[in-house]
Amino acid sequence: MELSKFCPRCGRETEELYGGEKKLCPNCYPDKNDLLEIPEVVEIDVCSTCGRMRKKGEWIEEYTLEEQLGIKFQDFAEEDVQMELQYWEEDNKMFVRVHAFKDEMKGEYDTELRVKKHQCENCSRFHGGFYKVKMQLRGEQNGR
Ligand SMILES: [Zn+2]
Ligand SMILES: [Zn+2]
Repeated sequence: MELSKFCPRCGRETEELYGGEKKLCPNCYPDKNDLLEIPEVVEIDVCSTCGRMRKKGEWIEEYTLEEQLGIKFQDFAEEDVQMELQYWEEDNKMFVRVHAFKDEMKGEYDTELRVKKHQCENCSRFHGGFYKVKMQLRGEQNGR
């Protein structure tokens, strides 16, 4: 006699079943369970003057959207879940699609991205524009 594991949802035989009380195959599991909990809207706070990003009250040196998204979405990463991010624009809004992978499972989650512009403490203290001009001048001299 041969005993095989099968998925109670699709009836397919499977090597591994995932989940808690009701276990499903890797195809069905992500349909019924979220691999990640991602809010419908994700906000990132960026300084409109120097371009730094605020993370948990601190302004950090991440200037590109790619890096900023990476940092932000780390918060949603759960153990053993790998993420790939894509973004697109529509009606002047930005959206991010998260592809999540865990073992042989995968899931896709879409979320709206809102970039909120602020001024960080440094930029508001040094009256923004003035401070930025000074920094740039110094940078050019060093580069020569
Ligand atoms: Zn199944
Ligand atoms: Zn700033």
